[in-house]
Amino acid sequence: MTHDAALQSWVISANDPNTDFPIQNLPFGVCSRPNGIDTVGVAIGDQILSVYECYNAGLFEGAAADAARRCGGSTLHQLMAMGRKHWSALRAQICRLLRNDTMVGRKAQKLADKILLPMNEVTLIRPIYVGDYTDFYASVFHATNVGAMMRPDNPLLPNYKHVPIGYHGRASSLVMSGTPVRRPHGQTKGDHDPVPVFGPSKRLDYELEVGFYIGQKSNLGSRIEIDEAEDYLFGLCLLNDWSARDVQRWEYQPLGPFLAKSFATSLSPWVVSMEALAPFRCAAFARPDGDPQPLPYLSSEANTATGGIDLTLAVFLSSAQMQAQGVAPMRLSQSSLQHLYWTPAQLLAHHTSNGCNMRIGDMFATGTVSGPDKDMRGCLLELTWGGKEPITLPTGEVRRFLEDGDEVVMRGYCERPGFRRIGLGECRGVVVNE
Ligand code: CA
Repeated sequence: MTHDAALQSWVISANDPNTDFPIQNLPFGVCSRPNGIDTVGVAIGDQILSVYECYNAGLFEGAAADAARRCGGSTLHQLMAMGRKHWSALRAQICRLLRNDTMVGRKAQKLADKILLPMNEVTLIRPIYVGDYTDFYASVFHATNVGAMMRPDNPLLPNYKHVPIGYHGRASSLVMSGTPVRRPHGQTKGDHDPVPVFGPSKRLDYELEVGFYIGQKSNLGSRIEIDEAEDYLFGLCLLNDWSARDVQRWEYQPLGPFLAKSFATSLSPWVVSMEALAPFRCAAFARPDGDPQPLPYLSSEANTATGGIDLTLAVFLSSAQMQAQGVAPMRLSQSSLQHLYWTPAQLLAHHTSNGCNMRIGDMFATGTVSGPDKDMRGCLLELTWGGKEPITLPTGEVRRFLEDGDEVVMRGYCERPGFRRIGLGECRGVVVNE
């Protein structure tokens, strides 16, 4: 019902066909208000609905009221702790009170001054305090391209199609969209250099990814079964895994990425719920003939049929010169989450398969989302093939890797005939060197 494409809101901007935030989306975030009090909000058109103010105004009842009562703080943790039934009840009642054809909608509209905040007048802050962060490597196209550059004779390692590959990332340096990213210093060594040097990275890159927030805890020593996995997912956001390729190349063997990744990871501020994504689910990646089938703990009928998400992802670049000249950002690539070799449920089932516990607010990311075609490559390393095939910007500038002043903008959205388009908003970051 909350997905019905015919639903319209009394918040007029939410009915614009191009908005990321129609009434069918209703993503959660946390905003810092001019009065200094943080509040949990839901994006609707160009406005933010304060869930707690709606609760105070008596606009919720039953399970939704119980959930909304926990939205008075500055994180989503208390709401997440209530579980999927409450998330769903809250979504259903928020939808009702934003509709233009319900009693409660008319009541809410009269309180618009109290319960709505213009999105451009508030600062969106970190909605969830992430305890542990894991980054996977779920795109076989990304893994094959990167492998081909590192090991031309043996691009895809023999474990890839059997076991989801990941590493433990750094949660302390997760930052909100809009936070400038300092070019990191690190140790690098070219193939022909006798000794390594320490200095600013010369091969700074982005990685186009999606991050999933864990909304329910699991116990140490227990596994999350693949068909239960999505009950643990609160929602997703855009994620830019900034990467220093020259540092990575020197440090990654034998234990994987370390300082090449941990200096910053940017997140978009809105958390789109798994329920909002329901109309856009698709089959898991169709494994070509000859590929192994996943082991039983990574396989189920439901996952094969609907474990994927048809979420379009795009990345844009805007150099300092482009910004100064008012040139629109250039789209570098566009891909879809449906190209991932592993589904979110497979990643979570695997993560807990050894008994590793999940805590509310933990996050795992997909890894760079690259697709089969050249214009679907989710990072500069792949797009410029390690710097050998530079990209020319509209100003005539050339890019192999990111320069100071470059702004990277990521966007994501879902479209399907018969449903309203919903979007994830933006994840931005500008490279600075100071
Ligand atoms: Ca990554």
